Amino acid sequence: MTAPRPPRRPEPVHAGRMAPLAVLPLFMKLGGRRVIVAGGDAAAAWKVELLAAAGAEVAVYTVDPGDEMTALAQAGRAGAVTLHRCPWGTGAFAGAALAVGAIADAAEARAFRDAARAAGVPVNIVDQPDLCDVQFGGIVNRSPLVIGISTDGAAPVFGQAIRTRIEAILPHGLARWAEAAKAWRAALQGRRLPFHARRRFWELFSRVALDVPDARPDQVVADSLVRAAEMALKTPTGRVILVGAGPGDPELLTMKAVRALQSADVIVHDDLVAPDILDVARREAHRISAGKRGHGPSCSQAEINDLVITLARQGRRVVRLKAGDPMIFGRAGEEIAAIAAANIPVEVVPGITAAQGAAASLALSLTHRDHARRLQYVTGHGRAGGLPGDLDWRALTDPAASTVVYMPGKTWVDMAEALLRQGLRPETPAVAVANATRADEVVVRASVATLAARLAAEPFAGPLIILYGEAFGEEAVARAAAASARPGPGTLPAHRAAAPFS
Ligand code: SAH
Repeated sequence: MTAPRPPRRPEPVHAGRMAPLAVLPLFMKLGGRRVIVAGGDAAAAWKVELLAAAGAEVAVYTVDPGDEMTALAQAGRAGAVTLHRCPWGTGAFAGAALAVGAIADAAEARAFRDAARAAGVPVNIVDQPDLCDVQFGGIVNRSPLVIGISTDGAAPVFGQAIRTRIEAILPHGLARWAEAAKAWRAALQGRRLPFHARRRFWELFSRVALDVPDARPDQVVADSLVRAAEMALKTPTGRVILVGAGPGDPELLTMKAVRALQSADVIVHDDLVAPDILDVARREAHRISAGKRGHGPSCSQAEINDLVITLARQGRRVVRLKAGDPMIFGRAGEEIAAIAAANIPVEVVPGITAAQGAAASLALSLTHRDHARRLQYVTGHGRAGGLPGDLDWRALTDPAASTVVYMPGKTWVDMAEALLRQGLRPETPAVAVANATRADEVVVRASVATLAARLAAEPFAGPLIILYGEAFGEEAVARAAAASARPGPGTLPAHRAAAPFS
């Protein structure tokens, strides 16, 4: 007899789990602001050029301006760069938004830093991160779309490589779209469209900008985007998407799943969903944990159904996020029926199920021409908590099948005993995989007769899956390799078999 479970209700989860940041990227408005620069060499000139490009009124203090600095002071718009041919003094900091010192001498650099701080002006000392309040990052310029890159001084060359990579993937035409966005934002506000129509507008805008960045964002485009957004008002927006989160590795999410997570208003997820997956979701999306942990306290299925229906009726885009594939041991059928009965549109995005994730980690094929012509997924967890009473033992002891047991944790001992009693070969290979595809994955290879004891000796936490069948043995793996190397009827020639992607 198990003790009655304490009741559990769906509970909001806060998204504020930001990993530590070495620096906080802030973007500074410098239009018309005074910035002082001490130094006259090429490094100082480059900073002056950046600052002037951002609209600052730059005052340069140096007794010895290099050619580049002199040229900058002569070119450019009037007043943008003023060259003072004298050393900096404490009076220079008055009214400055930022102070930059290109000062090699350590004592002078420290004095400059101290003077800036005394005047309450944030300071940057070129190439001396320890003295800096603020640092210049690498820049990808599609202004007004501006991307800053920092490695916090760890590896500037790495930062440059990243910058080059981002430069390559962001077409220059995006600058025009970002400019257009500025202009259209005001026009859109004048139309008094409600929130979700405006959001639809910006979603469509973003999609078009990324799909055809080199097109001109003209009035025709703006009008058609507004029309599409207004259409969105006439169709109900509330809907539910059942999304497969896969076994844990976020790289195994489908592109559709990523898109759904990034446009969700609310995400209702199971405990089993790996935390890394939720990091992919839109930060503003509300997260609600709906339990369903197999053995811990769970929320009732009826309560989860009511919750997603209520949220969708409020016009929200609800992502119902389930571990693995939603259609495998996920009670998706009950949820879909309830949502459809409430006349709410429902969509399903499949995911990589635990069996596929485990097989990929093990690099073991689930089917095999010689050893496994049939593949079966079975649950080890019946409604009452023990083994399901109606398991088909003939199928489960079929030597020509691969079997994957979901939720085997509490019942594998009973199941293995029953399998042997029903005539399965005790040496049948059995592999247990906990936390498949996650950083803490654990693999235990044994046989159906020995796996339970091996598992008892191996403490681990997290979801567990067991695969058994002749296709999973070491010899089967070796045999498969030997067979594929030997050309013959029904076998690939060696050179074909060796090229996995041909
Ligand atoms: N819909 C899920 C299965 C839900 S049932 C899917 O398609 O994968 C829950 C069971 O799935 C767990 O008890 C465990 O047996 C299995 N499982 C889910 N994720 C797993 C993982 N990362 N590693 C091992 N087993 C996993």
